[in-house]
Amino acid sequence: MAKVGINIATGALQKEEIIVGIDLGTTNSLIAIIHPESKKPVALKEHDSISLVPSVIHFDDNGNISVGEEAKKYLLTEPGNTIFSAKRLMGKSYKDIRDHSSFFSYKIIDSETESLVKIQVGNKFYSPVELSSFILKELKKRAEHILKTPVTKAVITVPAYFNDTQRQATRDAGKLAGLDVLRIVNEPTAASLAYGLGLQKEDHKTIAVYDLGGGTFDISILRIANGIFEVLSTNGDTYLGGDDIDNVIQNFWLQKEEMNSEKNNKDFLNALRLKAETAKKWLSSKNDFEDELNGHRLKLSISEFEIIIQPIIDKTISCCKSALKDSGLQKDNIDVIVMVGGSTRIPLVKKQVSEFFGKPVNDSLDPDEVVALGAAIQADILAGNNKDFLLLDITPLSLGIETMGGLMDVLMPRNSKIPAKVARQYTTQKDGQGAMKIGVYQGERDLVKDNRKLAEFNLTGIPGMPAGLPKVEVSFLINADGILVVKAKELRSGVEQSIHVQPQYGLSDEEVEQMLLASITHAKEDIDIRALREAQTEGEQLLRTTEKFIQKNSGKLSAHELMETAETMQALQLALTMNDKNLIHAKTEELNNISRPYAERIMDEVVAEALKGKNV
Ligand code: ADP
Ligand code: MG
Repeated sequence: MAKVGINIATGALQKEEIIVGIDLGTTNSLIAIIHPESKKPVALKEHDSISLVPSVIHFDDNGNISVGEEAKKYLLTEPGNTIFSAKRLMGKSYKDIRDHSSFFSYKIIDSETESLVKIQVGNKFYSPVELSSFILKELKKRAEHILKTPVTKAVITVPAYFNDTQRQATRDAGKLAGLDVLRIVNEPTAASLAYGLGLQKEDHKTIAVYDLGGGTFDISILRIANGIFEVLSTNGDTYLGGDDIDNVIQNFWLQKEEMNSEKNNKDFLNALRLKAETAKKWLSSKNDFEDELNGHRLKLSISEFEIIIQPIIDKTISCCKSALKDSGLQKDNIDVIVMVGGSTRIPLVKKQVSEFFGKPVNDSLDPDEVVALGAAIQADILAGNNKDFLLLDITPLSLGIETMGGLMDVLMPRNSKIPAKVARQYTTQKDGQGAMKIGVYQGERDLVKDNRKLAEFNLTGIPGMPAGLPKVEVSFLINADGILVVKAKELRSGVEQSIHVQPQYGLSDEEVEQMLLASITHAKEDIDIRALREAQTEGEQLLRTTEKFIQKNSGKLSAHELMETAETMQALQLALTMNDKNLIHAKTEELNNISRPYAERIMDEVVAEALKGKNV
């Protein structure tokens, strides 16, 4: 049943608003929709042109911006004003990309290493979010031109390993381009959807998505059950792809004696690079490549090609092994292999991936388009034209808040499935405490100072109550996009505060790995320090309550009791300053033993008095 809207002002029939699917790629981007008649996903293209828009932005001296093929022409001639691979910079600080800074031929500002990167072109500065928005704007413009209708709603895909910051940055880029981003979807999930996987409720499958693009390689292991996608593991190499294949071909030719004279001729090298890509594409369907450049003969046979690219394929296969290992599965457990990315057109790649998993691969769809096609299917689901799905992910690191003694209290353990919601109750430590600081952290260590701080906020306006009485519920909600919302609410009074967590900058895969490793290396140390902090907190609390009790009831205590208590309190106070858990425990115990008898006696007296007064 088709839905038809009526424009109330004019009475005219209104076309249903279209939601587009966008693959915002490192090398190429494209946009797809569900065809209104065939109901099949199609990539948008003008007449006989191609659907791919190179993810390249060129700025000319007059401030004009061009995007796509037009901009790509300037890649080699105007490297300073021609931006490629902006996706690699999304949500990153200079510190994150420092090791790869020579990869970028344009100027990346390196003065502030901790904050989000900026790119300088002429005398202007651009953030990766702005740069990506230029690409999205171009895609939107093309789609509007082809569809002859405004396009304002989109689903955009991101790599499965993108963290909160990178996802949020992608959303922001969409917003800047005038798009309402209804959902951020993982690229491997979109690719699976394009192959129709998971579209039937009874589909229960484990899928390996092998994505070899222009500059990146990703392998993801997904599981689909009951219409829910779950990312079991991801692996890959963020600096490995078709560009490296072009490189090895170029070097193969350069090694030939007769090209020695050209080794420093930049124009020649640039042209040779383009010939290398042409040869590579040619060899995906033919056996021999032959051409010439500046009088040099360029020859490459399929067998030579396969020998020189073998090390690159080997690297991808070893990533597949790691991904399998992390997912806890064996090759036999993989039901379907999906091929994504332009470089999977290479027959040897298909052959070896298929041999590794011991199954034929799915390659019937255009590997350039498959992610965008899947995004269009997801868009259609969101438009209500298809039943809804949840897209599940897992959190790479634990999330928690700081509690007494600087300890990390984990609310959401690592590898939690998202979307997810958890809540825990806390209370105040001081009488009449009107505010509570909530520090949100990510990581596996026991002390928050060793973890990564994501955010901090104050819950204020807690009405005056004795310590321990307020009930502050802290909840963590991670939505399907992987964005965390932290809320704190005092349940007795209803005061509440919440924040969206947008960390300052993202973590690289290596950093996540390092944080996990550190938590293992420091495990023993962490357990010890946690025990010490817990002992200290307990001791401090006992000191406070005893002090309060004595102040209130000093008249009811004997001189001996008062003296003995004061002495033990002093001993405990001293123990607290020494990092000896056992000593603190012993002194806490001692103070408890001394105060318990008179505390009970006085409580009895108070109760008796109260009963008397009430004349029961
Ligand atoms: P990304 O996801 O990084 O944006 P793509 O999936 O668009 O990248 O892949 C681009 C890469 O695919 C380029 O390196 C391009 O040279 C390569 N490629 C495209 N067609 C072929 C082909 N027929 N054979 C081999 N490689 C190809
Ligand atoms: Mg891609």
